[in-house]
Amino acid sequence: MKYVIGVDDHDSPIGGCTTHFSTLLINYFISNGIRVVDFPYLIRLNPNIPWKTRGNAAVRITVEFDGTKRELADLVWEKSLEYVNWFSRGLEFKRKPGIAVLEEERSDELYSIYVKAVSDVVTLDLAKRVAERSGAEVRGYRGIIGSLASIGFKGKVTYELITYRQEDYLDKDREVDEKSVTYFDELTFPKTFANYDYVKRKSLITPHGKDPVLYGIRGTSVTHLLLGLEVVKTKEPISDAMIFKSNQGTDAHLIRPGDKFYQTFRGLCTVEKSEVRRGGDVVISCNELHMIVYKETGELNLAAQLLKQGDQVEIVGAVKPSTELGKVIEAERIRVVSLNAYEYRNPRCPKCGGPSESLGKGKGFRCKKCGYKFQGEKVKVEIPRGLSLGTYQARYYRHLTKPIFLELGEEEKIEFEEVYKRLREILSSMNPKRRP
Ligand code: ATP
Repeated sequence: MKYVIGVDDHDSPIGGCTTHFSTLLINYFISNGIRVVDFPYLIRLNPNIPWKTRGNAAVRITVEFDGTKRELADLVWEKSLEYVNWFSRGLEFKRKPGIAVLEEERSDELYSIYVKAVSDVVTLDLAKRVAERSGAEVRGYRGIIGSLASIGFKGKVTYELITYRQEDYLDKDREVDEKSVTYFDELTFPKTFANYDYVKRKSLITPHGKDPVLYGIRGTSVTHLLLGLEVVKTKEPISDAMIFKSNQGTDAHLIRPGDKFYQTFRGLCTVEKSEVRRGGDVVISCNELHMIVYKETGELNLAAQLLKQGDQVEIVGAVKPSTELGKVIEAERIRVVSLNAYEYRNPRCPKCGGPSESLGKGKGFRCKKCGYKFQGEKVKVEIPRGLSLGTYQARYYRHLTKPIFLELGEEEKIEFEEVYKRLREILSSMNPKRRP
């Protein structure tokens, strides 16, 4: 029987990560004769959830298993507890790991909890009710929310190659050869993305925390990611590697936009006021909404600085509580739909040609130079705008945000078992002592 397993919340601030646990679990399955029939899926959920550790990721794994759903759930939970007790020490740090198991043929029944979990807040009660209704076996705590959601995922995918560190290197700095990263980027862009920051001149593929991830490369082609494992050079040995299918880079969080806290807002509005704050953040008011475009968003912030009253824009961003503004949208993308190209100015003086000031509504104007009072109309003047129509996006992608240039085509026709074998061959050739 084919079963789908969901796992979540297996990390802690001092180590571990849900993808690492999933990789170890897949190795365990394969070496114990349990067939893994598809790529593991790295499913990112609502990026605005405050209690996530990093990127709010859950993982789903599909296997062929001879026993019952309950037996499989017990087996996975036993492995989870080993990991969170001995490797990530997640329980000690109050993480709330969870797992779920469901027959593959019933996984469609969890699509709606996936939609809610990627775009809104899901309560543990709702997750438990959904599990009961669908017959999913669950074990553990809050992690069952992400676990059920990952099982229900359907949609466009990208891929990520993740490599892992050896335990004795976990306290050292990650050292990845930058030249090999830029070389790889030139070789494979846009089939892989978010590898290198050419403005700050630094590699983007390594995380900074204490988790066991050495580096991750994202892309739309498995072949290019396999090449990455060979081309990107590191100063430390790689203990393991896995390629995940993922909803990263697909705009999945925009599946159901909204304006409540922690949802993602998407909507058209006309700029009423735009203010550049000290430090460079821009606050834009439109249609009774306040939007903040942080300085760190780079190009997006520069574009926002040029917006003026009357401009029509489509805004995408996280809805967050704010002590100053009540509710604020943290912009991640702005599409400039139309620019207000004109401004109304006071007429020039008909006597001396000097500038004028208004004497109040319907009361005419007075020349600032010669004092002559006259009746007249405001004049429509074209204003130069250093901004074009189109989409502006934050320089650093949030995991789910689709890069502007990325083309999401059909999924590559390549079997997971073949890719798993190839990963092992490459790892063994890099480190001949490693057991394949
Ligand atoms: P890691 O990548 O190491 O797993 P993380 O950033 O993904 O870390 P988690 O440790 O997975 O963070 O914690 C996120 C927690 O939030 C999980 O328990 C998950 O079940 C839960 N969660 C995810 N999405 C939602 C949601 N939309 N509503 C409520 N809870 C959610």
